[in-house]
Amino acid sequence: MELDIFVEPYCLRCRKCCIETEMILLPSDIERIRSLGYEVERFAELRNGFYRLKNVDGRCVFLTDRGCRIYRYRPLGCRIYPLIFDEDLGPILDPECPLANVFSKRCLELEVGIRMLRRFLEELERFYGYRIDWDHFEEGARRLLRQCTAWGVATQRFSFT
Ligand code: SF4
Ligand code: SF4
Repeated sequence: MELDIFVEPYCLRCRKCCIETEMILLPSDIERIRSLGYEVERFAELRNGFYRLKNVDGRCVFLTDRGCRIYRYRPLGCRIYPLIFDEDLGPILDPECPLANVFSKRCLELEVGIRMLRRFLEELERFYGYRIDWDHFEEGARRLLRQCTAWGVATQRFSFT
């Protein structure tokens, strides 16, 4: 398992990304969750061409009052959120996440997240036949990292002058 990224204590109170979730499940996610003893029908359903996490009463089936029931085994998409792939912009931090701006300044986590997002999209292509414009992906990824580094440089200037 890779390092946990984009984790903040505030997430425990927020949980916005686990409400009415649209999270796509990859075959590797389904296998991993099944290996915990959950039947596929209990947590996955086909919606708009993809297997996705099921919602029960408007919340992800795995969300409890104490957080995610399968936290260490959660789907790859949950692990990298709020990093998502936008068809027009490439990799972006979802502006719907209240901490998107905070995470946009964590360059190391962004780098790891971009590698994980690449893996997510590769599996999406293989399994769902979804086509990714990889030039677009690279361009967007570079832009995110440039913005992050620029912010770091600006902070240093501010601190040391
Ligand atoms: S929406 Fe953002 S801030 Fe809220 S729980 Fe998800 S990752 Fe954390
Ligand atoms: S699997 Fe866990 S992290 Fe992912 S949406 Fe469900 S409760 Fe949230």
